[in-house]
Amino acid sequence: MITKLQEYGTVLEHAPLKQLNTYHIGGTARYLISPNSIKDLINVLKILKDHNLKYMILGNGSNIVLNSREYDGAIIHLDKLDGIEIHPELNMVYAEAGVMLPKLVNAAVNKSLTGLEFAAGIPGTVGGSIYGNAGAYNSCILDYISSVTVLDEDYNIKVIEHEDITYSYRNSMFKNNKKYIILAAKFFLKKGDKQNSLEIIENRRQRRLDSQPLEYPSAGSVFRNPEGDFAGRLIESCGLKGYQIGGAAVSLKHANFIVNIDNATSDDVYKLIKYVHQTVLEKTNVNLIIEQEFIDWE
Ligand SMILES: Cc1cc2nc3c(=O)[nH]c(=O)nc-3n(C[C@H](O)[C@H](O)[C@H](O)COP(=O)(O)OP(=O)(O)OC[C@H]3O[C@@H](n4cnc5c(N)ncnc54)[C@H](O)[C@@H]3O)c2cc1C
Repeated sequence: MITKLQEYGTVLEHAPLKQLNTYHIGGTARYLISPNSIKDLINVLKILKDHNLKYMILGNGSNIVLNSREYDGAIIHLDKLDGIEIHPELNMVYAEAGVMLPKLVNAAVNKSLTGLEFAAGIPGTVGGSIYGNAGAYNSCILDYISSVTVLDEDYNIKVIEHEDITYSYRNSMFKNNKKYIILAAKFFLKKGDKQNSLEIIENRRQRRLDSQPLEYPSAGSVFRNPEGDFAGRLIESCGLKGYQIGGAAVSLKHANFIVNIDNATSDDVYKLIKYVHQTVLEKTNVNLIIEQEFIDWE
């Protein structure tokens, strides 16, 4: 099977996953596959199906908690699907699923296209960010999408237009129903002023540096902000800043971040998230919703 898979991309067996997620946690993957192209991704999926192997799609691993044991299937990393096309005359950008958002934003801003500046500091891929409808500063990525190209369970490539995409705060039809793999997207932007966009990006970069513990591995905000409040404020009000289980701790800088301060395991992060959730529920009566996704957790 390996030889067959290798025709379509890079394949590693029992591959370590620590460097493939921003928590720097995780065990190994029985197979780690990086398909060369969309066509090759389809071939890989067919081989996995023939061998009855489960799989998961990995973007930049910045919103997930991977298990510290081996994933008994294939992790499909879309890092080679990294094509970008800029069409300034149409105010449009096309990007494949593996493109990192900061790269996409830079490419758009360089051609004086505005709209996506909010995403310059989000360390995710186009695919992962559409899946979770990533956002910041009251903007979210699906607001700027004119269409998403997906692969369905029968290996058909479909284009879903903006009006047919349902989404809400940190949520989308792709997250609610995992039958699609996101392959690419078209973004509809506006003509802007490059200098102005660069200033917005720099200003927000400074704000992130001041308020987020970027010096430690994390996966960003752990909980969604509840209506009219902030998860970080609630967690801090319960005295949980700095609370530690194993190598994982509630950040001292931003209480809605859990940071890997000393070789944390997936279990440390899991227990800490549960503890914070339970404590906030008991002390404030707010049932926080987890934004990060536990992968392969039974
Ligand atoms: C320092 C820091 C700051 C952050 N700031 C923000 C922020 O301001 N706003 C925000 O919203 N998030 C933020 N995040 C969280 C994270 O970056 C985003 O949620 C990002 O969009 C996740 O993208 P990803 O490629 O890393 O997805 P991953 O973590 O790799 O995957 C997340 C989920 O998407 C699925 N997926 C990935 N690609 C595809 C695909 N092509 N097709 C189908 N499913 C797919 C995966 O299977 C998984 O279920 C931050 C994270 C960090 C570490």
